[in-house]
Amino acid sequence: MTYGRIALFCLVLSLSGIALPYPRYQSISRSETVLGTVVRITLPETPGTKEALSGAFDLIQSLEKVFSVHQSDSELSRINRLHGGRLSPAMKDLIKRALSISQLSSGAFDPTCGALVSLYRKAEKTRRAPRESEIIKAKESVGWEKLRVEGDHLSMPAGMKLDLGGIAKGYIVDQVVRMLRVSGFSHGLVDGGGDIFCWGFNPEGYPWQVGIQNPWKASNILAILSLSDRGIATSGDYQRYLMIRGKKYGHIVDPRTGRTVQGFPTSVTVVASDCATADGLATACFVLGREQGMQLLRNLDGVEGMIIDQDGQKVTTPGWAKFLLKSVR
Ligand code: ADP
Ligand code: MG
Repeated sequence: MTYGRIALFCLVLSLSGIALPYPRYQSISRSETVLGTVVRITLPETPGTKEALSGAFDLIQSLEKVFSVHQSDSELSRINRLHGGRLSPAMKDLIKRALSISQLSSGAFDPTCGALVSLYRKAEKTRRAPRESEIIKAKESVGWEKLRVEGDHLSMPAGMKLDLGGIAKGYIVDQVVRMLRVSGFSHGLVDGGGDIFCWGFNPEGYPWQVGIQNPWKASNILAILSLSDRGIATSGDYQRYLMIRGKKYGHIVDPRTGRTVQGFPTSVTVVASDCATADGLATACFVLGREQGMQLLRNLDGVEGMIIDQDGQKVTTPGWAKFLLKSVR
């Protein structure tokens, strides 16, 4: 697995000469390597900030123990071994959120695609592309409509494997934000390695500014968005992919074909009122492609997005412009 650079990062632009809408404040940022990426949290400096940051990273680690597909003692791994079982409140909540994205995207986003995802991950380790028969078998185990949640109990068919990697990071970002807001922080930014939520103002007294990386040139920024109280996420094949015998495979699978999505589109960025929605929809649109992905985003209230094709074609939802501070070409 290759982890590339994060697609989104925060910028503090010099906007001197313009009247400030909010007083400047001192901030503290802390970065830690968790969730297989670098998570960065920025908060106003108060006597309680350091403790709040420690609490935030503790929460991230405890939620990683619930949702991780890589930790054999996680709740997710236990569910996959036992074909279901009792759900913690966080797991139940996230499964419901994931299934609502499956429904919206007609199954392009499917949290039951674990067998397919692990087939391609295994292929990378063994350096042998999956056989047709293996793909067919794994694909048969996929089907979000077969998941049953009754009360706190989940049941699923034997062979089915959950993988919440397409939405869990965004959800964890939201939970951290919720905790920090309850603790009294009226401004802040949580960057879960490209899945971001920001609220209030930045330390300069402006809405937060989030740069979207150029998929072809990591050091370049394609656009700068001005955001507050919004989640934003990007799915892109330039960021994470699998290499099997020198051939690049996307890390997102198309549950309808059992294949990885190859190079189309190159990058999807979604802005929504929470980060889990942005994260899940970005993954869904990656599978749906430009036309259907745009159609999905356009039909959703409070959701905006940008899809960039392999050939560099860029399409955005009509409301995207209201967040756009600067488009760089
Ligand atoms: P990133 O981790 O780069 O932010 P995404 O949010 O797009 O990327 O999630 C990719 C992950 O989602 C994959 O690594 C896998 O765990 C999972 N996944 C792959 N294909 C699908 C799919 N069709 N539906 C839901 N989840 C998927
Ligand atoms: Mg996602």
